Amino acid sequence: MLDAMNRISATCADELRVVLSGRVALPGDQFYDEGCRVWNGAVRRRPAIVAFCNQPEDVQAAVCAARRHGLPLSVRGGGHDWAGRALRDNGLVIDLTGMREVAVDPHARMAIVAGGALANDVAVAAGAHNLLAALGNCGMVGMAGLTLGGGYGPLNGSCGLAADNLLGADIVLADGRRVTTGPDAERDLFWALRGGGGNFGVVTSLRVRLHEARDLLTGTITYGWNEADAVLRRYAAFAATAPDELGLPVAVMSGLDGEPIIMVAALWNGERCRGERVIDNALAFGTPQSAHVGPATYADMLAQFDAWVAAAGRCHWEIRTRSLPALTVGAADAVIAAMTSRASPNCSVFCHHLHGAATRIAPDCGAFGLRREHFMVEIVAGWQPERDDGAAHRRWAHDLWQSLAPFALPGGYANLLGPDDREQARAAYGGNAARLSMLKRRFDPDRVFASAIPLPEG
Ligand SMILES: Cc1cc2nc3c(=O)[nH]c(=O)nc-3n(C[C@H](O)[C@H](O)[C@H](O)COP(=O)(O)OP(=O)(O)OC[C@H]3O[C@@H](n4cnc5c(N)ncnc54)[C@H](O)[C@@H]3O)c2cc1C
Repeated sequence: MLDAMNRISATCADELRVVLSGRVALPGDQFYDEGCRVWNGAVRRRPAIVAFCNQPEDVQAAVCAARRHGLPLSVRGGGHDWAGRALRDNGLVIDLTGMREVAVDPHARMAIVAGGALANDVAVAAGAHNLLAALGNCGMVGMAGLTLGGGYGPLNGSCGLAADNLLGADIVLADGRRVTTGPDAERDLFWALRGGGGNFGVVTSLRVRLHEARDLLTGTITYGWNEADAVLRRYAAFAATAPDELGLPVAVMSGLDGEPIIMVAALWNGERCRGERVIDNALAFGTPQSAHVGPATYADMLAQFDAWVAAAGRCHWEIRTRSLPALTVGAADAVIAAMTSRASPNCSVFCHHLHGAATRIAPDCGAFGLRREHFMVEIVAGWQPERDDGAAHRRWAHDLWQSLAPFALPGGYANLLGPDDREQARAAYGGNAARLSMLKRRFDPDRVFASAIPLPEG
């Protein structure tokens, strides 16, 4: 059995080596491990082949080869999907890390972004023209993965989600065809790409709307744990009336000494004096332990978060998600109680506030289904595998996820759902779930792109 599989992958690799401009790696080959590296160390899958693609033709060839040889397919962009969707056991990985170009047209306020570019690549390229893209809080995530699943971030209030700023995409479909999608071409597909994840094909390039960078103020404010209750209460009240120009996610996490802290991460894009006044209000949530907010670029802000992620080391991770219509006293109490009994300092809770422009888009405008104002909660538990089997951390994340259920909407952020969370996915897509399932059957009837956000079974 194993021999037969090895023969199939060796034949497939030989065929690909003839046509691909990039490398083709089998287990044991140089670069194989590099092609299997993902953010979450807990993901232990052994693909049969990694196909390093440098251009859309490579992607076409890889999709066709995987199908011809019956190999499960997956797509690796930034490698930051916690559930490890980029890798499948005994499968063929389409690695896009060689496709990271970003070309900015400052007059059209648009960027053409290759399918493997990272959010940081886009922030830097746009920033060079004093422009901004709607990204998340982490520069290392893949731009395509972020955008296709939604894309929460500090510019949601003024610019919408990353998906709302997708102007079009080039994609290789399950049958190997290359098509261009946009408001006037393959409109169903374009609709599905704005929230439906990597379910429909391999996106080789995205056209992304850019926005004027006004007076940017970014940075963080931290508060001590003794004030957690008051800070979260004031934060919730403040967020309810926050101006569109302000992104203010809050993190409940460990400080440098391992004790819990509350950290708000501000990004203001608007008129400077007004921004300073707004940020002064945030400073008054409590008595700040530290406050560093001032003029800086979006890329600077991403670098700060990426440094925090890097400092957590090579952990194993579990993530759960909830969508809260408001950060009520009950929900805040549940978070505080969970942090007090957390499994280790690597247990954190992040709340992203969806408001403003992102809520003024009709829910059926794209596949992303939840357009009412809400807090997207990420429950993140990390552990060091050499010291811990992760059971307590998984339980901690699950228990907090359960405790938040009474305060939550039925769905969650589809991009952070695990492979078995189909019911949560159905609820997340709401009225869009049926159309999305129908389009999945139409564009990928054989479920070639099964390693993607779990769509509701239609
Ligand atoms: C530390 C961290 C911070 C994060 N911060 C945010 C945030 O601020 N906001 C937010 O909204 N999300 C955030 N996320 C979630 C993140 O956006 C998703 O996990 C996203 O899918 C990651 O994309 P990737 O390319 O890095 O992942 P990968 O693991 O490379 O890919 C995951 C899947 O995405 C799909 N995919 C990726 N690229 C393509 C492509 N070119 N064509 C087709 N399908 C593709 C495929 O299904 C693929 O298997 C964060 C995740 C982490 C781990």
